[in-house]
Amino acid sequence: MASHLWAAPASLLGLALALPLLALGGRMVWRDGVIEVSARDRRPSARPGMRAQPPRLPFDAITFGHVVLARSAALHDALRAHERVHVRQYERWGALFLVAYPAESLLQWARGRRPYLDNRFEVSARQQAERAENDGRDDHGLRLSCPP
Ligand SMILES: [Zn+2]
Repeated sequence: MASHLWAAPASLLGLALALPLLALGGRMVWRDGVIEVSARDRRPSARPGMRAQPPRLPFDAITFGHVVLARSAALHDALRAHERVHVRQYERWGALFLVAYPAESLLQWARGRRPYLDNRFEVSARQQAERAENDGRDDHGLRLSCPP
């Protein structure tokens, strides 16, 4: 619980940013100590067979402390392992992560590298999420079912 307190300023920012999504019909769920907020899917197309589309946002998912915002519940499912790494990064850095992350992107940009893809926090999140997903697969790449 101390990690939640340490990251609380970032989590509060995440909740503030979640308010517009919730006001527009988004959903909020509590999952494994993290609040996941999904934007409401846009209305389905009038054409038959078309599914509802997640709204246009400048991100698929983004984490602030223990609050993760995503364009849709499906994107939460797809990106959960990656975003949970960012949650752990906030637990380590606290509110300082709000400065450390963009500073790292700026450093990468100044080095002529890609600010997002080469950001060490993103590299770490991709690697750890991939490892976590591979742990759930057998030697043939098939996903193993996890006991509840
Ligand atoms: Zn990321």
